[in-house]
Amino acid sequence: MTFDYDPTNIFARILRGEIPNRTVFENDHALAFEDINPQAPVHVLVIPKGPYMSLDHFAAEASAEEQAGFMAAVAEVCRITNVGEGFRAIANTRTHGRQEVPHYHLHILGGAQLGAMLPPG
Ligand code: 5GP
Repeated sequence: MTFDYDPTNIFARILRGEIPNRTVFENDHALAFEDINPQAPVHVLVIPKGPYMSLDHFAAEASAEEQAGFMAAVAEVCRITNVGEGFRAIANTRTHGRQEVPHYHLHILGGAQLGAMLPPG
């Protein structure tokens, strides 16, 4: 599969500072910020700073350093948001996964008992 990254997507614009965000954590390789339309008391998006459109793109082509930096950010988000009782990490991907923003992002959802993993609809 070839991955075709669109640099005009809204998360690329957030990374360029063109659109504000509520930052939770940032390091050299990742930015974590609050989702604008939260689906749980904790709803943070973790995104890589590099131009990757999806989880499989990131896993296939990001360097070991980028991947380690991303996962370090996930760990920090879980610590900062205090989701020790549990959380869900979701990476919606392309059409079947109903991905809306074509820049890889991992949703971290928690802070309350969550519903079914795949609700109807
Ligand atoms: P997807 O369906 O692509 O996995 O999820 C995209 C997520 O990005 C949605 O949960 C949506 O609320 C969030 N989102 C879309 N635009 C913005 C924005 O401009 N700022 C923030 N913080 N979140 C956004």
